[in-house]
Amino acid sequence: MFRTGRGKTKSDIYYIYKNQKTEMMDRMKFLQTTGLFVAGGIINKTGTVENNFINDAPVAKKTSSQVDFPLIDLHVHRSEKQTIEDIVAKSKKTGIKFGIMQNVAPWGIRDDAELKAYIDSLKSYPVYIGLQPMSPGWSKNLSRELIAQADYVSMDPQVVPEGNGYGETISVWEYASYIEDPEVFMESNMKHYMNILTGDEPLNIFACPLFLPSSIQREYDKLWTKKRLQQIIDAAKARNIAIEINDLVRVPHESFILSAKKAGLKFTFGSDTRDQKTGRLDYCKYIAAKCGLTKNDFYIPERVI
Ligand SMILES: [Zn+2]
Repeated sequence: MFRTGRGKTKSDIYYIYKNQKTEMMDRMKFLQTTGLFVAGGIINKTGTVENNFINDAPVAKKTSSQVDFPLIDLHVHRSEKQTIEDIVAKSKKTGIKFGIMQNVAPWGIRDDAELKAYIDSLKSYPVYIGLQPMSPGWSKNLSRELIAQADYVSMDPQVVPEGNGYGETISVWEYASYIEDPEVFMESNMKHYMNILTGDEPLNIFACPLFLPSSIQREYDKLWTKKRLQQIIDAAKARNIAIEINDLVRVPHESFILSAKKAGLKFTFGSDTRDQKTGRLDYCKYIAAKCGLTKNDFYIPERVI
């Protein structure tokens, strides 16, 4: 028999090749019969099946009486395109409960008078009243009593100070955010996350976690190390801050949700919308069902609406 290198014969190699091929065929067959072989490609090892959620339309289209978790969208804004009456009408039509948010920011609520006016404008409607401050230190000009009249406070980490080596503030959703060194950004990003999570200002929900600027999204799994993810979970757990599942940009991902659930954290849904898209919760429903979330895994504001 013809000998090749490393002591293997040609027929050995043929046998190994044949077996690999058989194994490959078996795997293909398995994927096809289990429905895991989809048009977009075979699901990869890290299990990022979130990308295939549109194939699971039956879950995404389910209504409140057909899922194991409450359909509450706590991230909705009023706008020129959507009045509070529109939102209430949508709630009646869909059975979804809504929480309205208003930014505490130079373009939103700036003082007690504006905070009071905001709360008064919503009090008579069957919606939760939420506050969405933009940066740590937001509460120092506002009275605690008035803040407590809101049903919840939700804050996201989307504006990262000193986010690159040029000392620029990075708005993570802007496609042209300039990140010359992903690790420099991640250091600042984590510092910003911790400033929000470990502060002493009221905070019920950590919104839109783990979103990264588009220029470094290809390195998502490398940059969001296990250590960093655990640090976020531990900090949220220490103050019982719930994690928003953001429908608009589809964060966070499955493995983070499962780790957070294991740590006992609660979740909320947020469509992050301000027009007719309000209440669209396809990703939220899909990933919640996939992670086996039930009513007890959700943060629900105390007030009955
Ligand atoms: Zn918002």
